[in-house]
Amino acid sequence: MARNSSWAERMHTANPALFARNAKGQAPHVLWIGCSDSRVGEFCIDLLPGSVFVHRNIANLMPYGDLSSLSVVQFAVDTLKVRHIVVCGHYDCGGAAAALGNKSLGVLDHWLKHLRDVRAQHKDELAAIQDPKARLNRLVELNVVAQVHHVRRMAPVVEALKQGRIAVYGMVYDVSSGHIKPIEVPHDDNEMDYLVYSNDEDFEH
Ligand SMILES: [Zn+2]
Repeated sequence: MARNSSWAERMHTANPALFARNAKGQAPHVLWIGCSDSRVGEFCIDLLPGSVFVHRNIANLMPYGDLSSLSVVQFAVDTLKVRHIVVCGHYDCGGAAAALGNKSLGVLDHWLKHLRDVRAQHKDELAAIQDPKARLNRLVELNVVAQVHHVRRMAPVVEALKQGRIAVYGMVYDVSSGHIKPIEVPHDDNEMDYLVYSNDEDFEH
């Protein structure tokens, strides 16, 4: 309570219009998808409350069957009309480390299966990396690429991409420096297969 009180006073002093503006509603431009890890979060892009709509879960996964993340994406894209979706993984991710191992983790195994799928898809590349830390961090990057593809294939995002009103980025946050860096996401060869959601049959990309 004491920390919250001093934070609210500090924020108000630095940004006198902030809370009055937020009391009227939100109009964020960014949807941030990140990991639940305590060391990471949208705070690293240094924006004020009201600027970023957020979804975080273990290992920043966006599985197709996950009602929570799908709802977040739909609301962010269709109602809030965010212009940017950032999928931000982070190096030294415990979820990715767990998915690289074969230890049974109970219910978490069901969640991490999505990450183990990414591991399986890139088995040879990962196996060729000798340094365990480098292997883990490569899986983190490959997972970001996979999740960006997932987001781009979600129905509301397919529509928004078609209309040219949204961009989806992959990023990785370095817990040892505080910096984020972009991850190159290869062109999705299957992109056209997801346009079944479109009402415009003439759309060509
Ligand atoms: Zn993590």
